[in-house]
Amino acid sequence: MSTQEHLEKIKTKCQQLLAIANTALLSRHQPCGCIVCICENEQQCQGCGAKTCGTHPVGAIPNPVYDTPLTSPAIAGWRATIAAITCLRDMEESPLIGGVERKVAKAALLNIIAAWPEELLK
Ligand SMILES: [Zn+2]
Ligand SMILES: [Zn+2]
Repeated sequence: MSTQEHLEKIKTKCQQLLAIANTALLSRHQPCGCIVCICENEQQCQGCGAKTCGTHPVGAIPNPVYDTPLTSPAIAGWRATIAAITCLRDMEESPLIGGVERKVAKAALLNIIAAWPEELLK
């Protein structure tokens, strides 16, 4: 796997983890009238009493509320990883950046890769 592929996979993984955490922490009763499904089946509700209010596309709840604020350290870490990869790659590719900065960006990206070995990205 190339460095760029590896970084892309890390970003995707963090985004997936964030999406899972967002869904898992949604309050069951949403202000719009939706009742969030708690069945652990992504395809179809297994009869938990979930319903959609009908005023927006399913899964796109406006102003969703959460049981637990999204402040866990893990979530912060995923967000920070995504932000760092995006920023450092821009730096690495920018023609305006000097050789020293480019080296620093590259070293930081390699550190991120070291923190996310391939086993974690499966
Ligand atoms: Zn709704
Ligand atoms: Zn359900």
